[in-house]
Amino acid sequence: MKHSLFVFIFLITFVHSAQQQDKVDFIHGKVDIKIDPKIETITGSVAYKFKVLQKVDTVFLDAQNLKLIEVTLNNKKVKATNYGKKIVVHKRLKANKTYTLDITYAALPKQTVYFLGWKDDVLGNEQIWTQGQGKYTSHWLPSFDDMTEKVEYDLDISFDKSYEVIANGALVTTKELDGLKKWSFNMDSPMSSYLLAFAIGDYRKKEVESSTGIPISLYFYPSDSTMVEPTYRYTTAIFNFLEKEIGVPYPWQNYKQVPVRDFLYAGMENTGITIFSDSFVMDSIAFKDRNYVNVNAHEMAHQWFGDLVTEVDGSSHWLHEGFATYYALLAERALFGNEYYYWKLYESAIHLQDLTQEDRGEALIDPKASSLTFYEKGAWALHMLREQLGEEYFRQGIQQYLKTYGYRNATVDDFIRIMELVSDTDLDAFRNRWLEDKEFPFGEAKTSLVRESEDLRNFFGLQKELMTSSTDNESIIKRYWGNTKSDQLKSQIIKTYYKSLSDDFISEAIRSNNVRVRQAIALAVGQIPLDLKSEFEFLLEDASYITKEAMLYKLWINYPGDRVNYLNKTQGIIGFSNKNIRLLWLSLALLTKDYEPNNTNEYYLELSEYTSPIYPTEVRQGAFQFLEQLIGLSDNNLLDLVNASQHHSWQFRKYARSLLDQLLKKKEYRDRIDRLSVKFNEEELRYISNKLISE
Ligand SMILES: [Zn+2]
Repeated sequence: MKHSLFVFIFLITFVHSAQQQDKVDFIHGKVDIKIDPKIETITGSVAYKFKVLQKVDTVFLDAQNLKLIEVTLNNKKVKATNYGKKIVVHKRLKANKTYTLDITYAALPKQTVYFLGWKDDVLGNEQIWTQGQGKYTSHWLPSFDDMTEKVEYDLDISFDKSYEVIANGALVTTKELDGLKKWSFNMDSPMSSYLLAFAIGDYRKKEVESSTGIPISLYFYPSDSTMVEPTYRYTTAIFNFLEKEIGVPYPWQNYKQVPVRDFLYAGMENTGITIFSDSFVMDSIAFKDRNYVNVNAHEMAHQWFGDLVTEVDGSSHWLHEGFATYYALLAERALFGNEYYYWKLYESAIHLQDLTQEDRGEALIDPKASSLTFYEKGAWALHMLREQLGEEYFRQGIQQYLKTYGYRNATVDDFIRIMELVSDTDLDAFRNRWLEDKEFPFGEAKTSLVRESEDLRNFFGLQKELMTSSTDNESIIKRYWGNTKSDQLKSQIIKTYYKSLSDDFISEAIRSNNVRVRQAIALAVGQIPLDLKSEFEFLLEDASYITKEAMLYKLWINYPGDRVNYLNKTQGIIGFSNKNIRLLWLSLALLTKDYEPNNTNEYYLELSEYTSPIYPTEVRQGAFQFLEQLIGLSDNNLLDLVNASQHHSWQFRKYARSLLDQLLKKKEYRDRIDRLSVKFNEEELRYISNKLISE
C-alpha cells in the first residue's frame, strides 16, 4: 500500500487532544503539601492553571475521598461540589481565557500513598512512597485519572528535615520553616497524573551522569553502601545505550532511582523517578544469580515509552510494556551479547506457546490481556517488526513516533500508521498476526531464532536429532557439548536432558568450573550418587546463592550422616534479601537431631521472629512457609499472619489469606485464632470474624 504525502502531513499534525474534558486544557499544577506520617494525612493545596477552549458551565477533577477546605477561581471563592470521587467547580467560563483554580484540601489516602515503619520501634526504617499507576494519584491530590490530561507539575513537599524527600523534577530549593523542611521540585514538561510520585525515607545517594550530561541519582539506605555498585551496575551504560538506540534525547531534566520496602511491583517508571523494590538491592554474589539490570533498563525505557508518549487507554498498553520490555532486552544484548538476547526471546516464546496451547492466548490489543502478553508477546512483536522493516526504517519510525506524540498520547493505530508511512510498507499482515491474533505464532518465532542465533540453531538441532535417532543419546549430546563454548547452551542442555546424562558426564561438567553450568546441575539433581558426593559437596562453595541453597537442601536430604558438616559449612550465610539460605539453614538446624542443642532455642526464636511486620514481605513469606510445614505456628506467628492478611502488597496478602484459610480448616488453629481475636485491630477483626462465621 502506498501513502500520499498529503496523508502523511495530515497524520502527523493530528494528535490526541490532551484534556479530560474536550473544552478545558489544564496546563500547569503547583502542588504544595505537608505530610503527617503519624496520622497518615496529606494536607495542602494545588493551584491549576487551565485554558478554556470552548465555553463551559463546570470544570471537574478527580479526587478520591479528599476533604475540601477552600476552592477559589482567580482568587475568588467559587462554588465547588465534592462528590467523593470528583470535585466539580460550577462557574460559567468563557472560551480562550486562562484561569487559576486553587484547591486547599486534606487527604487520608487508603491507597496510592504507603506509610511504612512509623508505628514500630525500629529506627531508620520509616518510609512513605507512592504508586500512581493502577492506584490513582487522585487519592492524594485533586488530579486526573484520565491519562490523556497532561499537566506540568511542580511539587513542594514539607516534611521532617531528618529524612530525604525525593520527587519528580529538579530540586530547586529547600527551606526550613516551623521545624519542617520544604523541598521544592520543578518540572518543565507535562505528564499524566499517574506518573506523579514521591518517596521519603532515610536515604543516601550516589550521583552519576549520562554522556549527554543528564544527572542520574542512585539512592540507597545508609546501611547498604557496599551494595550500591552491584545493585546499580551498568546504569549509565544502559542510559547511554537507550539514548543512542532510541535516537531521541532523554525527555526529562534528570533521572532518579529509589528502592523502597515492600513495593507492589518490581519497579515503577514515574516521570524521572523510578521507584523499585529494595529486594533488588544486592551484593556482587547475588548479582550473578539475579539482578536489577533488566528492571533498571525496563523502567528507564518507559521514560520514553509510557511517560513521554502515553497510551490513550488499555487497548494500547503494548506501547508501554511491550516497548519497555523490548528496549530492556536490547540494552541487555548490548551488555551481555547476542546469544543472551535470543535465549531470553526463546524463554518467553516457550511461555507464550504454553499459553496458546492451553487455549489462553491473548491479543496484544486486548486491554484485559495478562502481563505475559503485554510484556513478552509485546517484545516479540517489536522484534519481528524490526526484522520485517529492517533496522534503518524501524529506528526512523520509532523516532518519528516519539517526536509526533511526545508529551502527548497515542494509540496502537497511531504507531502502526507512522511505521507504515516511514517504511512505505503495508503492515496489515503484521497487525493481524502479532497484534490481533490470540495465538502466539511459535513457528514464525522459531524460524527467526534459528536464523539469527547459533545457540538456538544448535539447540533445536540437538532436539531434532535426539528425537529421531535410535543411537546412544549421550554421544549426540556430547558432540553438541564439545562443539560449543556457550554457557547458556550448556546450561540449557543440562536443564533439558539431565536425566539422560551419565555420572561421568556430570562429573566432568561440575569440574569444568563454569558457575552457570554448575548452577543448572545443582537445580536439576535429585538423587546424588555416592560417586559424585564429594563433587556435589564442592558446589556448596560456589559463588551463587541459588547453587548454595539447592545444594545445602539436597545434600542434607541425601546424606543424613553428614548433616552437621553441611550445616557447619553454611552457617552465617544469608543469601538474597529474602534470606533464602538463612531461613533454610535455621529450619534444617532445627530438624537435625542433636545439632548444637544449646542453640536450638535461639535458632527457633530467630526463624519465628522473621514473620514479624518489621521484616520485608519476602522474608516473612519464607518464614511462614518453613514454620508451617516443619514446626507449626506460634501465637505470635498467627498474629503476624492475620496482620499479613491485610497487607498493602496484594501478592503477600493473597498468600497470607490462603494460608489462613488452610489453617482455619483445622480445629486447633481455629480455636487459637478465635482466642487471639482480642488482640486484632478493627480491620483484622472484621476480616477474621467473617471467616469464622462463614466456615
Ligand atoms: Zn513496565
